Amino acid sequence: MSENLTPLVGMDLPELTALVTAAGQPPFRAKQLHHWLYRLGTREFSEMTNLAKVFREWLEGHCVTGLPRVVDRRESAEDETVKLLLELSDGELVESVLMRERDWWTVCVSSQVGCALGCTFCTTGAGGFRRDLTCGEIVGQVIEARRLVPDGEFLRNIVFMGMGEPLLNPTAVTGALRILTDPDGMAVASRRITLSTAGIVPELRRLSEKDLGINIAISLHGVCDEERNKIMPIGRRWPIAEILAACREFGLRPRRRITFEYVLLGGVNDSDAHARALGKLLRGMPCKINLIPYNPSKVLPYRRPSMDRVNRFQDILLHQNYTVCVRFSKGLDVDGACGQLAGRHRNGADS
Ligand code: SF4
Repeated sequence: MSENLTPLVGMDLPELTALVTAAGQPPFRAKQLHHWLYRLGTREFSEMTNLAKVFREWLEGHCVTGLPRVVDRRESAEDETVKLLLELSDGELVESVLMRERDWWTVCVSSQVGCALGCTFCTTGAGGFRRDLTCGEIVGQVIEARRLVPDGEFLRNIVFMGMGEPLLNPTAVTGALRILTDPDGMAVASRRITLSTAGIVPELRRLSEKDLGINIAISLHGVCDEERNKIMPIGRRWPIAEILAACREFGLRPRRRITFEYVLLGGVNDSDAHARALGKLLRGMPCKINLIPYNPSKVLPYRRPSMDRVNRFQDILLHQNYTVCVRFSKGLDVDGACGQLAGRHRNGADS
């Protein structure tokens, strides 16, 4: 993509209106463009047939849609998960994962290329941080994933759980959330969107103030700071107590709960004592707990606990009256865990 061309995906209707007006076109053209970009996901201006020919030619000379290019697509033979590797305008790579859940689909999007937080159990973290995604690059992942949803089915949920820490890229993420939930555009219900964070406390509080109506998930993975900091170094900046205080004060919509994600690492954080401590930590919080048995990687030193251990951990929390789900990573046969596919492409070899 030429650096001189303006990417359009990522612009909201007022921004598109300013653009078409500057091009000497009537403002209603912005609505047409908005429809082509966000409702239909059209890549080529030549296909936007209700735009005046002269305007399409102007667009060709000044703009690009800015949608990412799918450079690899892997479909799981086990569970229909589709993993997309997308190339951005500067050649960077990000991953999105499309997952079937009964008769609807969920897309997991990335918010950064790589991640600076360095969680020791995460392939993305091991690769380091490269750059933030733009608002348009986040929205573009959803548009490309939606294209793959079979006719008669629909993309219902969006989760910000891919590469990166969304609350370290808050401007682009907030812009993307506004575009994704625009009823005249992509029209995703805010209650169907979940943002997962490792606990960037000031941004969590700012997000609460914005009252966007989305759901929040906290990547907890530890029950005391000393242990958590060993696997999530960001905990040294914002300890568990501060994260939970921000959660308790988060402006939840009625009947909503915060999700706590807890990856079960064999022999590290999966004992009965850890389960009891987790229950104690979250007491009184409107929440649900997702237990995620670790998805082993060839390059990281952790192992998945036995199913007996997973079940025992869950039972302890169930007995404390929590809602507890065990969630397995989807698409294991297509490098389902975050960062694995991009890592393989960057390295040009199996990782
Ligand atoms: S788990 Fe999430 S926050 Fe931690 S390094 Fe990986 S992508 Fe970053």
